[in-house]
Formats: sequence, C-alpha cells, structure tokens
Amino acid sequence: MQEEYIRSEKMKMVGDMAASVAHEIRNPLTTVRGFIQLFGTESLDKEKKEYYKTICFEELDRAELIITDYLALAKPDPEVIENINMNDEVQYLANVLMTYANYNNIEIKVVLSKDSSLMVVGDRYKFRQALINIGKNAIEAMQGGGILELMTSTMNEDVVIVIRDNGSGMTTEQIKRLGTPYYSTKEKGTGLGTMVSFSIIKKMHGKIDIKSDVGVGTSFHLIFPKNDFKHPAK
Ligand code: ADP
Ligand code: MG
Repeated sequence: MQEEYIRSEKMKMVGDMAASVAHEIRNPLTTVRGFIQLFGTESLDKEKKEYYKTICFEELDRAELIITDYLALAKPDPEVIENINMNDEVQYLANVLMTYANYNNIEIKVVLSKDSSLMVVGDRYKFRQALINIGKNAIEAMQGGGILELMTSTMNEDVVIVIRDNGSGMTTEQIKRLGTPYYSTKEKGTGLGTMVSFSIIKKMHGKIDIKSDVGVGTSFHLIFPKNDFKHPAK
C-alpha cells in the first residue's frame, strides 16, 4: 500500500518531465552543433577530427536513447482508446526485441494463453512502448546471455503478462527506486524507461508486481482488468 502511494506521487511528476527531457536532448544537440562549426572553420589534424567525430556520435546516440525511452509520453494527445489483444502485443514485443536479444546472446521464449481474445483497454502504441522499455531492461540485465520469457495468462477477471529474465536481479532498495525519473545503474542509461512504462500501465488501470533476486533474475507481472470499458484509461 505504502509503495503504491509513493508510486502515484512519482507519477504526478511525469507532467513536469517534458521540459526536463527537452533539456536533456538539447544538450547533446548543442554540443554536436558546436563541433560541426569547428569542422568548418579550423584546419584540424586528422586525430582531432576523429576525436571530435567520436564525441558527436556519442552525443547523438545519447539523444536517441532519451527519445527512444521517452517517445510514448511525448506523443500528442488525443490518445486512442481501443481494445488491445494481449497475445498479439506480447508476440509483437518478441518480434521487436528479437534482433536486440540475438545480439546479446539471449533466447526469447513466448508462452501465450490459449484464450486468444484477452483484451485490455488502452492506447496500443503507448502500451507497446511500455512493454518495450521493460523488455529492453530485461535483456540489458542479462549480460553474457540468458532467457527472456514472455507470457500471457488469465487470473479470475484479470489478464496477466509476465516478463521474466534470469539476469542480474535487484535488491529491495533498487526495486523501490524503479519508476523514479533518471534513476539508472547503467553507464549510458537514461533512467526514463521504467518511469514511462509505469505511467502508461497505471493509466490503463494495470498493477505492476515485481519479484527479483540478486544474481537470479527478475519478473515483472503486469495485471490488467479484462475489457475494462467501464473505466476507460484517461
Ligand atoms: P535505464 O534502462 O536507462 O537505466 P530504466 O528506467 O529503464 O533506465 O531502468 C532503471 C534501472 O532499473 C536500470 O538502470 C536497472 O538498474 C534497473 N532495472 C530495470 N529493470 C531491470 C531488470 N529486469 N533487471 C535488473 N535491473 C533492472
Ligand atoms: Mg531502460
């Protein structure tokens, strides 16, 4: 209960985030702009040129990462509210993550519910962003390979999606910090991914249950009311 409260407090901050994220993207752009100007005006030796080029690429990659993790919230309203088929979305997630998983020596296992009409109300594209951010983190937690399991099932009147990895795992303290803007343990992390995911899932009246053991792995359980058109996501 306590944690739920803290989470919803965090969510209130999301509205103020756009300005801060814009600033985060503007910084690398300004840096790159400066270097391009340098290229034009100075006769640089080859080594310096290479060095500046490396910085430019790094800065552009950084901007791209921030946009990738944040994209959904930046999408203009009005949101589309529709029935989303959970089996389709989890299969879609597996397809999207395939290349990234292969590259990291990770096998993706998909186990879908036999009920192929598991519907949840929300905005399909935002929901995809929510799943992708959680799935990406799972892959990134499995340095040196592993198995990413994606599952759908039903529990009473709820639809459950499980995203499980056998990666680094998290301590209780680390789990508590999930969803906090800019919290990241990665060298090149944005700390925006889980914040964006949690905010989208909350809007869909979803619950997030996280189980994790250090050195063993993590599972995210996303629990949604089935066909909840009575309380559509805002
Ligand atoms: P980023 O991925 O850019 O670091 P996120 O908001 O997506 O930012 O994640 C925040 C932090 O949460 C990560 O840096 C990582 O420490 C932790 N985390 C999230 N998912 C997992 C996971 N499946 N296993 C281990 N740690 C995780
Ligand atoms: Mg992330």
